[in-house]
Amino acid sequence: MDTGRILSRRGVFAGGAALGAVTMMAGERVLLPHAASAGDALAPQHRPRLASLHPRVDQITDIKVCIRPFRAAGPRLDVERIGDRTIFHNYGHGGSGWSLSWGSANLVVGKVAATLNRRVAVIGCGIVGLTAALTAQRAGFDVTIYTRDLLPHTRSVRANGSWTPDSRIALTQTAGPAFADQWEQMARFSWATYRTYLGLSGAPIMFQDNYILSDKPFDDKPPPAPPAGAPGRMPRATEDFATYESRIRDIVPAVEDIPEAENPFAAPHARRQSLMIYNFGAYGHLLLSEFHQAGGRIVIREFHSPQDLTSLPEKVIINCPGYAARDWWRDDSLIPVRGQTAWLPPRPEAPYGLDYRGAALLSKTDGVMIQAVDLDGLGEMTGVGNSFEHPDPTEAARAIGIFADLFARMPIVGG
Ligand SMILES: Cc1cc2nc3c(=O)[nH]c(=O)nc-3n(C[C@H](O)[C@H](O)[C@H](O)COP(=O)(O)OP(=O)(O)OC[C@H]3O[C@@H](n4cnc5c(N)ncnc54)[C@H](O)[C@@H]3O)c2cc1C
Repeated sequence: MDTGRILSRRGVFAGGAALGAVTMMAGERVLLPHAASAGDALAPQHRPRLASLHPRVDQITDIKVCIRPFRAAGPRLDVERIGDRTIFHNYGHGGSGWSLSWGSANLVVGKVAATLNRRVAVIGCGIVGLTAALTAQRAGFDVTIYTRDLLPHTRSVRANGSWTPDSRIALTQTAGPAFADQWEQMARFSWATYRTYLGLSGAPIMFQDNYILSDKPFDDKPPPAPPAGAPGRMPRATEDFATYESRIRDIVPAVEDIPEAENPFAAPHARRQSLMIYNFGAYGHLLLSEFHQAGGRIVIREFHSPQDLTSLPEKVIINCPGYAARDWWRDDSLIPVRGQTAWLPPRPEAPYGLDYRGAALLSKTDGVMIQAVDLDGLGEMTGVGNSFEHPDPTEAARAIGIFADLFARMPIVGG
């Protein structure tokens, strides 16, 4: 297999005659395209220049476990009456809660606006609750959040944190075509709202080049699974999960193939996509500040049954408890899908992401995130039915090992 090369400052200048002028910071180490070693004359604008990332297990600062709140029919967005309270549900966003949060909030607050009440309670301060609260404020409501935990302590911040709007969001057959339309509405509204948070100090939201690497050609797909049977609640195969991304191709940057001569990685096939990512620290802080500045109140409180809501002063309630609804709302339509991320210190000089051999890496302002997405070839079934919320260091080490091995195969030249 063809291998890429990492050049130290000295190595780059040693190869400078073939490569042309390359401006570098002292001590910087970069990956260069394979063809550079053969002296091919690549146009400078086509040469990816990436600082190397050598993740190591002894650099782990945290391992976070999260449960995706998956529902076969898609998120719960219906309305329920309990006593004289009207409950607008907003939970069950699977692996897409960050991505769809604003669009989901927009749908729910649109319904809330039809009531005559101006005071609204929001249950939960994960990403779904907090964006619902902000959206209600923007619509002119007086909002109080009641929650057991604030955003930095919720399951939300144990996610990967990138634009994944149709990740385990529903099962195609169970959700049906009406949900596909609703999904598109949510995705477009969310995307537009996220764009208003770009270019801010601290980079709460930003775009990053994400490199998808493969040992096999990308069109070398496994054979399709047999057709699914009657719609059910439980997914049985990756193919049961809904994929809607083709509906929003007009707004999301396309994936582009990287020609072999420009591929800097020790994997024969590479693609690049400009990916929207959420930096949890900066973004979470900004959203909480916006909520307080607009006069919002937060009350720390835990609910144990739906009846508890009748003790609130607000008559209109937006319910955003995430996976916890399975316990305290007794909603067994929620299916746990476990996922884990390992965090390493930030590497601002290497701002890019990688997907390779079932693991994902994102270099964020609050750390390098490495996730075991699908190490065992189970596809979207990975973690389905698993609600074990304890860190698994072996899983973290396997995911880190994939990238450690990738970079080890790209020797430093002239270092
Ligand atoms: C490994 C992993 C990676 C992921 N990556 C992404 C990604 O890249 N992009 C993406 O869009 N999505 C991603 N997700 C999915 C996303 O994390 C979830 O969909 C999202 O966090 C759900 O948010 P939530 O606000 O509904 O729930 P939560 O974050 O669980 O918040 C629930 C809130 O309700 C409160 N609450 C719960 N029960 C009670 C109670 N009884 N009384 C009072 N308060 C209560 C909690 O304190 C909390 O404030 C990922 C998930 C996993 C597991």
